[in-house]
Amino acid sequence: MHPKNLGEDALPNFKAIADRDIEAILISHAHQDHIGTLPLLMRRFSNARIFMTEATAEIGSTLLHNSVNVMTRQRARAEATSYPLFTHRETDRASERWRWCPLRQRILITGERSSESGTDALTFEFFDAGHVLGSTGIVLRGGGRTVFYTGDVNFDNQTIMEAAIFPEGKIDILIIECTRGDHVKPEGWTRAGEERRLAEAIGRAFERGSCVLIPVFALGKTQEMLAMLHKFRRERLLPDFPIYIGGLSSKFTDIYDRRAHRTRRQLPRLQLMKEVAPFILNDETIRDVPARGGRVYALSSGMMIPKTLSNVFARRLVENPQHSIFFVGYANPESPAGLLRETAAGGEVALDPDWPPQRVRCNVQQFQFSAHATREGLVDYAKKLSPKKILLVHGDPPAVEWMRSTLTDELPDSDVIVPSPGTEFEL
Ligand SMILES: [Zn+2]
Ligand SMILES: [Zn+2]
Repeated sequence: MHPKNLGEDALPNFKAIADRDIEAILISHAHQDHIGTLPLLMRRFSNARIFMTEATAEIGSTLLHNSVNVMTRQRARAEATSYPLFTHRETDRASERWRWCPLRQRILITGERSSESGTDALTFEFFDAGHVLGSTGIVLRGGGRTVFYTGDVNFDNQTIMEAAIFPEGKIDILIIECTRGDHVKPEGWTRAGEERRLAEAIGRAFERGSCVLIPVFALGKTQEMLAMLHKFRRERLLPDFPIYIGGLSSKFTDIYDRRAHRTRRQLPRLQLMKEVAPFILNDETIRDVPARGGRVYALSSGMMIPKTLSNVFARRLVENPQHSIFFVGYANPESPAGLLRETAAGGEVALDPDWPPQRVRCNVQQFQFSAHATREGLVDYAKKLSPKKILLVHGDPPAVEWMRSTLTDELPDSDVIVPSPGTEFEL
């Protein structure tokens, strides 16, 4: 689904598969854009089997129940009359039908394990995508052909997540994400260097009596940021200071903590809720929590969608030159976070259509800690596989275009395809 749009506009184009018999639905990970309409899809295809990792199932059920609450509030504000698109009860019934699959295991579309030697039967296999907890890329094998869908991937270590381990054997068709396709890696960028730059920027902000808002996705970026702030305090780059996160983020953080010892990750003993001990804010408390200097507010949503904690809090800070808003990851260019990032100091920005535009006087800075692969990493991986066909998905048009022209040049024997929604391709 499209996380920025509302109501029917946010839904995937189900038309193209409306008359099909769908046997199985494979979920790569539990971010909203990948799992947000699963109960609707399951309603349409009640016989389909649903497969995902156990961590994705746990996170996904929490996320969908939260979506019901968010949609119910949006309905109350008359933003979308069709909301909620599904209920708590339907979410419970849906998640009972999900089947958990381990990584690196060939599984038949019927759900049974498949022997490695295998027949021509259709199988799938999950690979660790290194993006967020539970995230996968998915290999489909059948009739002697191999299709690989990357999902959202990171080929580099983050603070918690370790780099993806993806297949390097024969892949005929590669379906690859393009999120950072229009992103030029800054000269001399290293993750360690960027961490230092962020710690110093927070330190300087604190000296000015500033509080720091960091808009983050509830799943993934929140936990990465908590672990990074923990490192800053432990390495004495920064003093001890209060950190605030939102309620949904705290639920996902609990899941990271509970699964820490059985996840392939860094800092496996770090229990974020206990050791970093963030304070929890909700829709009510966000309105009057004091914006006091020397505090970090790592609030979702990452794109500062109107009415979310980060949006409400940003509107309180944006006109005050004392305060700071630091961006640390991807934001759709048309989202409030994307708009604010592009607005020069002194310019006007409308963060919520229900409120008048505001003049940007706070300190806005950008840092690069993406949970997505660099475009160079994506191209290197595609070159390693050198598949017959490459389908480019999950990117803004300029990002997809850079990937298309680069891969066309670098892999002249591969057919590079930019699929438009609803179009059928013979693979
Ligand atoms: Zn994702
Ligand atoms: Zn995504």
